[in-house]
Amino acid sequence: KEKIIFSLNEMIEEVLIFLYPSILDGKVRIIKNLEEEVKLLGYADEIRQVLINIIFNAIDELNTNTIEPLIEIKCYSQANGHVKLEIANNGPMIPEHLIQSIFEPFVTTKKLGTGLGLFVCREIIEKHKGILDCETQSDLTVFSITLPIASQKE
Ligand code: ADP
Ligand code: MG
Repeated sequence: KEKIIFSLNEMIEEVLIFLYPSILDGKVRIIKNLEEEVKLLGYADEIRQVLINIIFNAIDELNTNTIEPLIEIKCYSQANGHVKLEIANNGPMIPEHLIQSIFEPFVTTKKLGTGLGLFVCREIIEKHKGILDCETQSDLTVFSITLPIASQKE
């Protein structure tokens, strides 16, 4: 297995196509606000898995009867050579007492959940020298992924 340089935008499009049946099923509106072109260096299959997990979690929450279910995907590069990707949804908020622990293994609020998704996602992002976090912004739950942009030389 090797690290490769890949386009973040292309990966997001791929993941949305992959999740399209669930997006349709949940009548989820997707709003995308992406940068021109961002290249990352890493294990593409692992990063793809992170995006799938986080978006799938969002769809899961929206399926608990949210009115006008929405996922917003925003991406912007930062001055320090990193890109920040934000995946927000307007589903039920994470209870205050849980927000600190959702990245721990086996923490789940789902009947058939494993509670391993976010734990593994954070491991993968940290292995790529990035940060995975979650915060709430008014009525949105926002997961943010910060990763180093691949330099031209690599
Ligand atoms: P699982 O999906 O198996 O429950 P995860 O590690 O993926 O495990 O998620 C852990 C918990 O974090 C979920 O059970 C849910 O309570 C909470 N969570 C994850 N994503 C969201 C989200 N977008 N909105 C609200 N809660 C979330
Ligand atoms: Mg999950």
